[in-house]
Amino acid sequence: MSDPRPSICVVGAGISGLVCAWELSRKGFAVQVVEQHSTAGGMLASMRIGHEYLELLPHHIRKSDRNLISLLKELGLQDDLAWFDSLWYGRVGRKKLGYLERGFHSLISALSQEITDSGGLIHYGYTVMDISQTDPADISSPQGGSSGVSAGASSFSNSTGTDMPYPRYQIACVLADCTTVVIETDTVLFTASCRNFAHITHNLLIPTDYRDALMDVTYKANMCLLLLMKTQFTGCFSRPISFESPFQRMIEHTNLVGARRYGGHVLYLSGSFVTSHPLWTQSDAEVFQAFFKNLQLVNPTIVRSDILNWRLTRNRYATPTTRPGNQLLAPLPGLYVNSLAMVDDGGEDGSEYRMDPCVALARQTARQIEQEYMSAPQKISGSAAIDRIF
Ligand SMILES: Cc1cc2nc3c(=O)[nH]c(=O)nc-3n(C[C@H](O)[C@H](O)[C@H](O)COP(=O)(O)OP(=O)(O)OC[C@H]3O[C@@H](n4cnc5c(N)ncnc54)[C@H](O)[C@@H]3O)c2cc1C
Repeated sequence: MSDPRPSICVVGAGISGLVCAWELSRKGFAVQVVEQHSTAGGMLASMRIGHEYLELLPHHIRKSDRNLISLLKELGLQDDLAWFDSLWYGRVGRKKLGYLERGFHSLISALSQEITDSGGLIHYGYTVMDISQTDPADISSPQGGSSGVSAGASSFSNSTGTDMPYPRYQIACVLADCTTVVIETDTVLFTASCRNFAHITHNLLIPTDYRDALMDVTYKANMCLLLLMKTQFTGCFSRPISFESPFQRMIEHTNLVGARRYGGHVLYLSGSFVTSHPLWTQSDAEVFQAFFKNLQLVNPTIVRSDILNWRLTRNRYATPTTRPGNQLLAPLPGLYVNSLAMVDDGGEDGSEYRMDPCVALARQTARQIEQEYMSAPQKISGSAAIDRIF
């Protein structure tokens, strides 16, 4: 029997996708989240190191992160949040920064748990390659089209006054073993980069100016080297690099939160890149060598054996350098885009993106999706179904 709940497929299990999926699963939507990686979190993903979870990229909370702090409260994680004095190289005074008892892993797993507790599904290792609409003939067929999921025969009037069946969407995902899975759904929310969205929606009749606006959004990539060191490297939490170097900032996480049970001192070297930079296409080992050589310029006494372990993380679409604003939210009925570039970052220097405005925008998007459903519930016809496996 088909699920009577309205269905939504959320693309991306970063904080934006998870917050939106949680809001909508609480509101009675049948939610499926698809994530290309094997874990949730996106840029906030963590790995196990020693006896703790640690973020692959350095993440901390500010006192002004109101949306994030209230999200932590709602999830019952407020007691996990502790505030620490951070010492910034060359700056007078210490800024308070927040970090969670068990790292941001606890936030990501609490959100994932809430989604699955409300009946939602999270599919890992699903890379979305194409978003298309079901054939209108399929939609109005009594069997509800090829999937066999009843799609009803509801309709809306288009701009010429012609009655059109409401579209349903097909999300084609490639799995690690190269098989393809198609998910059929009433509503789609895409939360990854604008570029990626433009590439995977060739088959949709999206207005040209909308597509152009997506392609106008440019991004800087990020490469971040996480080092587990035998000893403390500097006395500071954050230090900019003043000479030409592949990384522009050092964040010594354990100088903020203490040694914990990581098994060493944690130092992040974070670099912003244009992808034409030669280092971007080099192997992890080559990037490590280049970063290490520059680290020796900061402190010539450091030797390779001071590093117990390292891990490099690359993010192609880490920082949008142009902003379309959130007028790009809904290109077609039932299709929504909630991408980092659309977030009002409010950063101190206008060049950084933070979790807090992502949480705010995700909640705003969830409200909009719900309101649009309330004003036209007849368009929503049945649950998302995994349709075909090739
Ligand atoms: C180096 C660095 C440090 C930072 N430090 C801080 C900090 O201290 N404090 C702070 O508040 N913010 C910080 N941020 C910013 C913060 O990480 C982001 O604002 C936030 O994580 C963005 O979340 P998101 O869900 O919008 O995007 P993402 O985290 O990018 O999530 C998008 C998800 O979509 C998935 N995806 C992409 N394409 C597909 C596809 N085709 N199919 C399926 N899945 C797909 C991705 O794998 C990913 O999981 C930092 C960012 C960087 C780069």
